[in-house]
Amino acid sequence: MSATVASLAADLAAGKASALELATDALARAQASTLNAFITLDAERTLAEARAADASRAAGKAGPITGIPFAQKDIFCAEGWRTTAGSKMLGDFIAPYDATVVARGKTAGLVTIGRANMDEFAMGSSNENSAFGAVKNPWDTTRVPGGSSGGSAAAVAAGIVPAATGTDTGGSIRQPASFCGITGIKPTYGVVSRYGMIAYASSLDQGGPMARTAQDCALLLNAMAGFDERDATSLQREPEDYTRDLEKPLDGLRVGVPRGWLGDGVSADVRAAVESGLAQLEKLGAKRVEIDLPYSQYAIAAYYVIAPAEASSNLSRYDGVRYGHRAAEYKDLADMYAKSRAEGFGPEVRRRILVGTYVLSAGYYDAYYLKAQQVRRKVAEDFAAAFKVCDVIAGPVAPTVAYKLGEKTADPVQMYLGDVYTTLVNLAGLPALSAPCGFGEGGMPVGLHLVGNYFAEARLLNVAHRLQQVTDHHLKAPGGAA
Ligand code: GLN
Repeated sequence: MSATVASLAADLAAGKASALELATDALARAQASTLNAFITLDAERTLAEARAADASRAAGKAGPITGIPFAQKDIFCAEGWRTTAGSKMLGDFIAPYDATVVARGKTAGLVTIGRANMDEFAMGSSNENSAFGAVKNPWDTTRVPGGSSGGSAAAVAAGIVPAATGTDTGGSIRQPASFCGITGIKPTYGVVSRYGMIAYASSLDQGGPMARTAQDCALLLNAMAGFDERDATSLQREPEDYTRDLEKPLDGLRVGVPRGWLGDGVSADVRAAVESGLAQLEKLGAKRVEIDLPYSQYAIAAYYVIAPAEASSNLSRYDGVRYGHRAAEYKDLADMYAKSRAEGFGPEVRRRILVGTYVLSAGYYDAYYLKAQQVRRKVAEDFAAAFKVCDVIAGPVAPTVAYKLGEKTADPVQMYLGDVYTTLVNLAGLPALSAPCGFGEGGMPVGLHLVGNYFAEARLLNVAHRLQQVTDHHLKAPGGAA
């Protein structure tokens, strides 16, 4: 098994390893990897960060994760690092400032090994929409790693780094975590600052950690979370220690399983793995209850109206004037905008801009955007009712295991339908995680989806941690190329 954040942190604290040694090793693995998990490696910057971490430890200023190497999703602006968001539009963009997540990572002493590949502007479920090429799943390199945080998930699963950051607008932390057999948590909307995180759909976007274990995710979330006055939707709350409940017994925990989630819509192998995860929770003292989320059947439709609507607005800033790609030749200003955007954005991003602009246009606003917002409210009300009778909700993350590269690229709607269990959680702004619960077709990993009420991150991590104490799916390493 590859090292965890917790085990490496213990080595660093005991003086058995230095940040520089860990970074050098991780960098060598990243450079040798054929998975295409990274868009940018910058050894000089990485080693400088590692030396700074070692210096802060020598000065007695080390925190719990000082010196831990990690992969940063290429959506977080980091001063001096090329920050592309997986797009040609930002192919040459060097961020002039740090996102809050980046700044907090620096304060905690994390060492950036590289910038993780991702779907362009986080739009996608397979990482095949990256302008820098698809990422391969380390469990089977003919398959997708999931998206949009596919580079992050593949890098952790392959043992290149013990941890990574991701962002989740409609499933992009949980689904790649599930497809790659790692753990990833999307916090409650507003818990992790969006400042400096390149925007896709602002009312849904949320950053979070991805790692091998729930305990590692808790350690990372401690560093990432917290109020930020530079993000207007950041929540002002007392800081939390997300490791505090890890060992709590699960006796009496009510696990709600939504009616229909383990029915015809999910493949038999995924259903079996999820059932085994649920059975483990019952052995640990949890009680299974059936719940109803009637509006969840409309969640994908609502999400694929709201997310493109917000994206069309957010992406209007890429006009070739201030920064980003500008066409080499054009007739006049309007032509410069049109050519720069046509050249800079990939096909899926253009599709979403068109959909978003359409649903927001005067004649269609009420029929699509307004309706979708009404569904959004209903989805949130369903969850509120469900959490009266259960403590956490459990089910699959995705209907199947990771599929083959190219299998769904010709049919965007097929790709969207894979988000059936994840998007509703973002519509409601709830926290949720994916933790490995078994293997399915082709020996591919399957994640157990756990959704909590607002601010139940510590509880979710507790449930996943207890599960990981009695199972070993998360400890298995892929046989595929690293
Ligand atoms: N697959 C979803 C989409 O393409 C979710 C992506 C995400 O969470 N960033 O919108």
